[in-house]
Amino acid sequence: MCKFLIEKGAEINKKGGESVATALQWAAQRCHYYTVHLLLQHGADPLITDNQGYNTLHISTFNGNVFLIVLLLHQGIPVDVEDAFGHTGLMWSAYKGFPQCVDVFLRWGASVHAKDSQGFTALHWALVKGSTGCIQKLIEYGADRFAKTETGKTPAITAQELNTMGAWHKALKECGYDEDGNLHVPSWPGANHFLQDKKGFLTKFLYVWPFVVLWAMFTIMAGMPVFAGVPIALVVGFCLQWVAQQVLEYAPHDMRQLQKTPWMSGIFGASLFWVGVNWLFKLFPATVLWAEPADSHLLLNVLFAVFLGLTAYFYVLCMVEDPGFVPKLSGIAEQRAVIDELIGLWKFDEANFCVTCMIRTPLRSKHCRRCNRCVAKHDHHCPWVYNCVGINNHRHFFLYLINLTFGVIAYDFISYHYLSSVSSSAPDTCNILAPSLCKIVNADAYTLILTIWASLQLTWVGMLLFVQFIQVTRGMTTYENMFGIDPHSAASLNSAFTSTGAPLAGAQPPSGAPEGGAHGGHGHHGHKHGGFLKQWGKLLGVDAFIETATGRGAATGAKNKKRKTNPYSQGCLTNCKDFWFDPAPVFGRRETGAAVLAGRPVNWTETYAAPSLMDGEGQRGRRGRSGGYVAVAGEEV
Ligand SMILES: [Zn+2]
Ligand SMILES: [Zn+2]
Repeated sequence: MCKFLIEKGAEINKKGGESVATALQWAAQRCHYYTVHLLLQHGADPLITDNQGYNTLHISTFNGNVFLIVLLLHQGIPVDVEDAFGHTGLMWSAYKGFPQCVDVFLRWGASVHAKDSQGFTALHWALVKGSTGCIQKLIEYGADRFAKTETGKTPAITAQELNTMGAWHKALKECGYDEDGNLHVPSWPGANHFLQDKKGFLTKFLYVWPFVVLWAMFTIMAGMPVFAGVPIALVVGFCLQWVAQQVLEYAPHDMRQLQKTPWMSGIFGASLFWVGVNWLFKLFPATVLWAEPADSHLLLNVLFAVFLGLTAYFYVLCMVEDPGFVPKLSGIAEQRAVIDELIGLWKFDEANFCVTCMIRTPLRSKHCRRCNRCVAKHDHHCPWVYNCVGINNHRHFFLYLINLTFGVIAYDFISYHYLSSVSSSAPDTCNILAPSLCKIVNADAYTLILTIWASLQLTWVGMLLFVQFIQVTRGMTTYENMFGIDPHSAASLNSAFTSTGAPLAGAQPPSGAPEGGAHGGHGHHGHKHGGFLKQWGKLLGVDAFIETATGRGAATGAKNKKRKTNPYSQGCLTNCKDFWFDPAPVFGRRETGAAVLAGRPVNWTETYAAPSLMDGEGQRGRRGRSGGYVAVAGEEV
């Protein structure tokens, strides 16, 4: 319709309607970005103002539609353009309370210090609405916390008058300031050094601290009688964790919870380290070097050494490797070309475009909020390796799990042989334990505890391995297993997806919500987390396990339609072959995104359309969908 009128030579910048707006402004108000794009391409001027002094950018901001704003900014509109009262787009989105829009404006370089005709900054406007996400974003980008308006009002006074003190204090705290807006300086020694590089320091500290915690707990438990050792060790462990939690108070806001830090990966690293040390200095000498030839378990020890080495190697590799981040574009011109292309395909939406990375999202990729990047063929974000598991390190992750499982089993055998030989000569007097157990405790309680601890790891590793195994044979990622596959577009980008397949914030926000705030990785921290148990269940991967084991997940749900339409599955054998025998090096990094699908090379960082070799049903589905596009096109253009 529009196209027809334009082609017939309708005057494109003509104003009309009750607010004397141009066609472009009307389209923007209704969030028709395809129409907006069409009008812009035919020379509509986005800077024309209506009778209230708003241009198209301001009007777009009112609705909080971040895609529309991204589209307009890419047309070269000055980001700080003011309306009749000197309000910039940033102020409007802060006032309306859209953290995601505020984020886009700030990343685009909007001035955080700009003042309107009354001297209000964007921070003042954000406090009118009281959206913590917006306030926090502005402070993060260096907004003046003491800026005064013409009438001398600071942000704190504004917050008081408008009853948004709660949000103001919360945002200040998240950004590391006290309630008066002054920098919160820790009182312990060395704090100044620590403040120079908060993130780097905390990452190292929280990784190393579990080494101390585990060592202290094991030593106390082993060194004391059982009835005293266990409670005291728990108390000490709790205190040491409390110390870590106190340090977290000074962390950048995206590291405020232990799950968002290398803490868990540190616990694993510490376990691996202490088990390795114990084996090298105690078990290995006792079961090989000084053992009678008949009692020597050389083969078992060699096996364990191999598994230990491989586990450590793949663990480190998974942790430091680029999981397959989708490369960002090199400039605005390229981004604009991508947006133009997507609009031409009627695919300029959150399933196909990541506002944070400003890229077209490839098929099967997902934006990880922890890493704040889009990851190709995203599987899940794993706290045990403090990294995403994506196309590049998925196989390494699987190998890590396998080696870990066999390593623990081998360790159990060695320590069984060791304990049975040392306990034969130990005294069997202790307070509450049975004599046979008592002998072992008296002989070497430390090794016993370490063995039990290591064996406990088999629970989560076993579940993870089971889920991963099923998924690889079905040709699915954890995300697809949990939420089903949409072969027509990249997976929805909204959920905070961690560990082994559960969105942290519970249900996914409805797609298309304009103020998801999910992309920034900052913003909303007000999620109601489930109960403590539920949260740890998710972290340990119990969720995905139950879903898969009970057949509710897409991978095992035989009656589930989602599974039938998996276009990436070529049958168990081919799936496994693709996964295990692709040409990328097993002991090294692969070229980002490179993989094999049905024997043919694909690159998941640049695959946007479902593969042509998918089964008939998938193709029918696609044809149906493209028919849908035509219908939509006919309706709107
Ligand atoms: Zn992204
Ligand atoms: Zn991640």
